[in-house]
Amino acid sequence: MTQFALPYFAFRDFPEGINQQVEQALVQVARGNQFILGEEVEAFEQELAAALQTGTALGVGNGYDALVIALKAAGVGAGDEVIVPANTFIATVNAVVQAGAIPVLAEPDLHTCNLTAKAASAALTAKTKALIPVHLYGQACEMDELMELAQQYNLTLIEDFAQAQGASYRGKPVGSFGHINATSFYPTKNLGALGDAGAVVTADADLAAFARMYRNYGQEQKYHNSIIGINSRLDTLQAAVLRVKLRHLPQLNQERQRLAQVYLKALQGIADLILPVTAPDSTHVYHIFNIRTRRRDELKAWLSEQGIQTAVHYPVPVHLQEAYTFLGHQRGSFPIAEELAATSLSLPLFPGMTETEQQAVITSIQTFFRTHG
Ligand SMILES: *Cc1c(COP(=O)(O)O)cnc(C)c1O
Repeated sequence: MTQFALPYFAFRDFPEGINQQVEQALVQVARGNQFILGEEVEAFEQELAAALQTGTALGVGNGYDALVIALKAAGVGAGDEVIVPANTFIATVNAVVQAGAIPVLAEPDLHTCNLTAKAASAALTAKTKALIPVHLYGQACEMDELMELAQQYNLTLIEDFAQAQGASYRGKPVGSFGHINATSFYPTKNLGALGDAGAVVTADADLAAFARMYRNYGQEQKYHNSIIGINSRLDTLQAAVLRVKLRHLPQLNQERQRLAQVYLKALQGIADLILPVTAPDSTHVYHIFNIRTRRRDELKAWLSEQGIQTAVHYPVPVHLQEAYTFLGHQRGSFPIAEELAATSLSLPLFPGMTETEQQAVITSIQTFFRTHG
């Protein structure tokens, strides 16, 4: 008998036949002899902009570049401060530093794990130029208050929606609230490519024009450079893959939400276990299904013994990362971010996960709390 083994994430053919469609798209590009930008990239950009109900989407090399390009387009640079959540993936913060600005960390909400306007306003100074809410784990941030804050203090609002493609707030898709927004199509994201990929989206024509040039050496017309840009173009092969996946995104997200509901129902009321909470006006597309317990490390080890792999998003909050000691914070500076880092555990959840697999996770968690009293 082979031992039960469930990875934290697996690529499955869900919905059935999607892999074949992706392969066909790849072959088409390979035979088309257009490998950089071109029609396939433009078609994806238009389809993405339509799905996000926003003006312009521009394909770029990855999510990190998308953030950097958004910051550059917004004119963020030396001496500026940018407010970011203290519990985000490091890319958000690194991008601010790459743009030459100073990241200013703010506490997330303990329940939604997202940045709130209240925490952001406490981090405001005269130097604050931009605000980057991150729709963490796949849940849309509460945008009304954040937009109000940005307007009141004349801040550029940049959404990092790398984890939340397809999520919405008050019926409006994430990626359509900020002045200019950034996302990633890293393979395991809800909308994932077969390699690195990302996008910048904006309804502002000037910001779009800047981003379009900046991602391609600062040229609008070949060999005519009006600004000093970089090379961060969305690969044409990835655009073809993403066109296929984008068509299935609603179904992929619905499957994630269905799996999340099974966990939410089966795991309620167990010991000190805290399940993900969704704000009333937000939707959650469960890029990450994050549970919390004081006994996180023990539970993780137990599940691993049962053949179930889990992950921790994120074990070390930004202010305690060695790379960010220069910000001058210490343990205790952001108690909520630290609490989340100490107690969070991400359970396996991916489209195509079977009922047997999910039931094994549920049973193992129930058994842990029953037998490890
Ligand atoms: C994945 C991710 C990014 C960066 O994406 P890459 O494509 O890997 O550069 C940025 N922000 C958040 C919140 C992410 O989860």
